[in-house]
Amino acid sequence: MVHWSPFLQCFKKKYPWVQLAGHAGNFKAGEGGTILKKHCNREAKCLKKLMGDLLRSYVPEYKGDVERDGEKFMEMEDLLGDFDTPAVMDCKMGIRTYLEDELVKARSNPKLRKDMYQKMIEIDPTEPTKEENAAKAVTKPRYMVWRESISSTSTQGFRIEGIKVRWSVEQRLQMTKTKDQVAEAFKFFTDGNQSLQKKYVQKLMALRATLENSTFFQTHEVIGSSLLFVHDKEGSHVGVSLIDFGKTMSLPEGQTLDHRLPWKEGNREDGYLYGLDNMIAVFNTLADC
Ligand code: ATP
Ligand code: MG
Ligand code: MG
Repeated sequence: MVHWSPFLQCFKKKYPWVQLAGHAGNFKAGEGGTILKKHCNREAKCLKKLMGDLLRSYVPEYKGDVERDGEKFMEMEDLLGDFDTPAVMDCKMGIRTYLEDELVKARSNPKLRKDMYQKMIEIDPTEPTKEENAAKAVTKPRYMVWRESISSTSTQGFRIEGIKVRWSVEQRLQMTKTKDQVAEAFKFFTDGNQSLQKKYVQKLMALRATLENSTFFQTHEVIGSSLLFVHDKEGSHVGVSLIDFGKTMSLPEGQTLDHRLPWKEGNREDGYLYGLDNMIAVFNTLADC
């Protein structure tokens, strides 16, 4: 069985705060509509830069760093704060979710990993080779490349990490791969509400136009970052924001990315806009039915 626990915490009285991905211990409640995420230099630097970029209104407001119980955290706006009984979806963007650096490092030191073998058989017991079964371990690059191939990441340019609707939390979406499966999941998230789906199409198109003009976006390799979708009970209040910049890296001076070109090792392309185009197309087919 895939191990998953939805991290529901009562940060505010109005609704339970929900965390759809990442480690449960990484977040704490902040004060006055903020949350605290465990500090990461790379992410804090991105959030700081984003506060001065065109993308600012699509990113949780960054309030700076704080210390709690001897640990450093980044304080940022709680994107669920303005919503009554929110439905939430996390989609990880891009055609790969590891940095080129990570693949190179993993290759140069291809240690056998028992934990990754465990994760692999929890998702698909038929995947390991005879040798891997005998060793009860797989190498990290093998696991990384396989992990992208089972979801929609490598084909659609995004994958759904988790969905919370009013009546349930669904996170066993690792194998949501085809366009039809993604469409089903979006339909579930929006409860088949076409006017809500249209609102998301509008939001995503406006976001795409902003991304295409953002200096930050042009000059960064954006890996493992998500779009967080939120709507309220009536489906009248809708939000789409960029979160999670722990693997977002600035490019060398003068270099930019297209974000739609295929990835060839060395070109650092992340396929972010390729994924966003596909995502808009899927939402559009639902909204137009
Ligand atoms: P991973 O790298 O495994 O994806 P992470 O530890 O970097 O995880 P995030 O992806 O930033 O964590 O966030 C995990 C979850 O927490 C998100 O899916 C979302 O549900 C929630 N979350 C994160 N940031 C915010 C925010 N600013 N407002 C509301 N919810 C948030
Ligand atoms: Mg994340
Ligand atoms: Mg992260």
